Amino acid sequence: KPSVSDQAIDANIQVVVRCRDVMEKVSHAYPKVEIPSDLGQYVRTRNSASDTKTYSFDGVFGPRATQEQIYEKMASPILEEVMQGFSCTIFAYGQTGTGKTYTMQGDLGPPNPQTSNGDVLNGDPLTCLQVPTNAGLIPRSLHNLFYILNRRSVEYKVHISYVELYNEDLIDLLSSEDHVDGAGLTIIGPGHDKSVFIPNLTKIRVRKSKGAMDLLRAGSRKRTVAATGCNKESSRSHAIFTIHVEITERDESGSGQVIHKSGKLNLVDLAGSENVGQSGADARETGSINKSLLALGRVITAVAAKSPHVPYRTSKLTQMLSDSLGGNTRACMIATINTSQQSFVETVKTLKYADQAK
Ligand code: ADP
Ligand code: MG
Repeated sequence: KPSVSDQAIDANIQVVVRCRDVMEKVSHAYPKVEIPSDLGQYVRTRNSASDTKTYSFDGVFGPRATQEQIYEKMASPILEEVMQGFSCTIFAYGQTGTGKTYTMQGDLGPPNPQTSNGDVLNGDPLTCLQVPTNAGLIPRSLHNLFYILNRRSVEYKVHISYVELYNEDLIDLLSSEDHVDGAGLTIIGPGHDKSVFIPNLTKIRVRKSKGAMDLLRAGSRKRTVAATGCNKESSRSHAIFTIHVEITERDESGSGQVIHKSGKLNLVDLAGSENVGQSGADARETGSINKSLLALGRVITAVAAKSPHVPYRTSKLTQMLSDSLGGNTRACMIATINTSQQSFVETVKTLKYADQAK
């Protein structure tokens, strides 16, 4: 029977803020958001010279922070946990346009793996650990995962799944069926052991990062096409890219016992946080509540407060992530903001949401 690693990890959520630069003609001195230019720990919001508030996080990445720095601090340690058999989640949360997709996907590189001199880009993970400079967390996680797995003498299987959640409808982005608007996927669970099961979810085995990148591209294309076709607003949907990792190795202490580890990493590009809405009746009429986004906030707050009851079942998103959020898992949230005066109200909302998750 496959066994998860027996060492327990402390269920806390790491929270960082990433701030993107916007070129803006500033008309007033206030309000204003102050952030470090590359790496720091604090964000300060100023309504006026005397009315200020300072937030502290596990990290604050300013406009000059690179994609690689974010990967090294946020995803690289989590990838190690996944290879030890844990289920982990990385979220990008923030207002539309602040860089969630840039952080998660970024530059995916050319779809054709041939470079002009005929070398196969990303072909052999042992000899080539090249990703584009602006590649985001998903391509970097995939490249590093295969690089590490191939160096260690372990047997492994990597599967990918990719879903979109729109209006509480779970859509399989890797399904071979052309139309994506048929019956959505059903989620069973969480059971008493927090396990969740999604019948009929497409999971595709990949042997190299290149194959996984092709799935990311194809799934993202499907998401865009479907959104345009039925006037969905893509800022209202969540995209969940999951890397499932199974490892079989022999116990190094010499007993020769075979150990199975099965972990996964969910990389979640959330709906725009402006859709979290107000819980009043007006918001319900305008459809401005995103049920899953609201529920995620409550779940994260409960996990952060180590509450005995975590309301996983109140939305599809939290239901789906219940085995990878809280308990014996590691999760991190990257809250994305910008420094624009126009966005100030949303920026403060995002900082408060992020602050509660600590
Ligand atoms: P979101 O997914 O949150 O709506 P995007 O990731 O699409 O936002 O970012 C909006 C635009 O800003 C894109 O053109 C993206 O390339 C650019 N962008 C976002 N963050 C950064 C950053 N840190 N550095 C450079 N460009 C960025
Ligand atoms: Mg986006």
